[in-house]
Amino acid sequence: MIDLVIATRNGGKLREIRAMASHIELNLLSLDDFKQIGQIKESGKTFEENAVLKARTVAKKTGILTLADDSGLEVEHLNDQPGIYSARFAGEKASDYANNEKLLELLRDVPPHHRYARFVCTIALATPETLIGTVTGTCEGMIGDKLTGSGGFGYDPLFIVNNYNQTFAELRPEIKNKISHRAKAICKALIMLENYLIEKQNT
Ligand code: IMP
Repeated sequence: MIDLVIATRNGGKLREIRAMASHIELNLLSLDDFKQIGQIKESGKTFEENAVLKARTVAKKTGILTLADDSGLEVEHLNDQPGIYSARFAGEKASDYANNEKLLELLRDVPPHHRYARFVCTIALATPETLIGTVTGTCEGMIGDKLTGSGGFGYDPLFIVNNYNQTFAELRPEIKNKISHRAKAICKALIMLENYLIEKQNT
């Protein structure tokens, strides 16, 4: 079976990626299996730069095929903030709760039609030698005026998904894992991986 490192320590992300890739014969590892790899500084200016940085660094350090996701929330009224700073919106190592509270505060008194937002997820796949490629998925919605629901992670209790009228934290994981930005990106990434493996077999 092929080993694939998921370059994250975010339990929420890891749970989702594991569930989405469960039908594929892969031995999934995560950064928790490589305690010697410290924090990777996300110094890029875009989701893509950060995803590539994480995938290439971890692939080189582990010697194993690696998948890295960089993701975040873009809120139109805030000029697409928090974007790549989503995890640290309320400060380095901020909790999900603190990030959500900051977002609610910045959107206080902003009417529903100005609360449009989208989640973005860019995935990079890399071997120790080379970058295989990157793919992106998005999911549109709006920011609620209070935390609703208990599932998911991050901004899920505030993100009301278009066409569902429920937050990601209210939707069952099976549903979120079909329609989310990460689901769309993973679907594309698994196709990219399959093509890479077929090409490799034929050379
Ligand atoms: P990253 O580890 O730099 O990619 O940070 C991603 C951050 O974006 C997370 O810590 C969350 O705050 C936010 N985020 C990304 N995807 C999701 C999601 O599916 N639900 C809720 N928040 C998310």
